Amino acid sequence: MSEFERRIYNFCAGPAMLPTPVMEKAASEFLNYRRSGMSIMEVSHRGKLFEKVLDESLALLRELLSVPENYEIMFLSAGASLHFSALPLNLLQEGESADFAITGIWAKKAMEEALRFNPVKKIYDGEDHKYTEVPELDDSMINPGAAYVYITSNNTLLGSRYPNFPKLTKAPLIADMTSEILSRKIDVSQFGAIFAGAQKNIGPSGLSVLIIRKDLLGRSKRTVPVLMDYALTAKNKSMYNTPPTYSIYMSKLVFEWLKEKGGVDAIEKFNDEKAKLLYDYLDTTSFYQAPVKPSSRSVMNVVFTLQDKNLESKFLAGAEEKGLHGLEGHRLVGGLRASIYNSMPREGILALIDYMKEFEKKA
Ligand SMILES: *Cc1c(COP(=O)(O)O)cnc(C)c1O
Repeated sequence: MSEFERRIYNFCAGPAMLPTPVMEKAASEFLNYRRSGMSIMEVSHRGKLFEKVLDESLALLRELLSVPENYEIMFLSAGASLHFSALPLNLLQEGESADFAITGIWAKKAMEEALRFNPVKKIYDGEDHKYTEVPELDDSMINPGAAYVYITSNNTLLGSRYPNFPKLTKAPLIADMTSEILSRKIDVSQFGAIFAGAQKNIGPSGLSVLIIRKDLLGRSKRTVPVLMDYALTAKNKSMYNTPPTYSIYMSKLVFEWLKEKGGVDAIEKFNDEKAKLLYDYLDTTSFYQAPVKPSSRSVMNVVFTLQDKNLESKFLAGAEEKGLHGLEGHRLVGGLRASIYNSMPREGILALIDYMKEFEKKA
């Protein structure tokens, strides 16, 4: 077996594994992209070759998520955290407020950053139950004058998600979908904006996508640094400056792969099945425990613990030996976590369950 074929099951939360066919395609085109004699990494971002990659990538994302015409889609040259600062600057006037639902650490970070610019408010905090469920939000919870309502749609560290999204009329809903974008069907028109860092379900890290309703662009009259100015980025077709061209190319390959697999409808069924296999197993044993309330369980990040926490490091070492990588929980929450994004094959889940059963028997 060549080194190239030696792939393991990578359960890391992000950067996460990418589909093997995508990696193979990228490798085959690496040195000589479409007979140009150059890598796509080496060509001008203003030239025809890259322009086509960018256009196709944006069009595929629009198609995969059925993004309506009145929404702009753009790439930004930084990860999801960029938007923690960019959202208040782009969408709020000085002194204006927005509402935040705190369902985990990413929402908390986003709110802390927004507070540096604006007097934003918390409308929910799951701290009391250690973030083991998500709330049902509705218009009655929204503060008067809130310019938007901010949520993290899937809580990567804690393993919870919104099973349904609220239909708000009082303020636009803005969602950080970094760890679940393209994993389930969504109705984009329910949102004012959606953003996601690429490294979980889209491609390499350091890139993010933003889908935003056009009427929200240019809403704020404040000074916004050019590279996080949404209206300016849209006006320049994601190319105010040199964009991360290779990352955008990789994202295009992932979108093509997803389309070939049957799109978001098909991957959602596939993801639901994968997560069910794992949760069903967790529910049959008290040796392992899944802390999140069943109705709020994430389909992408399955968080679990060992009843005997002292066995954790042994569990992780044994898993590595079997080629099951990245199962440790986030350093802030501990425990164990299997991140099973779109590109995790069913075989990976089965291999994990086999290992978990075997470990339980031996313990
Ligand atoms: C990973 C993650 C982030 C951080 O992404 P960066 O690209 O590192 O900024 C933000 N939000 C959520 C929900 C995440 O899962």
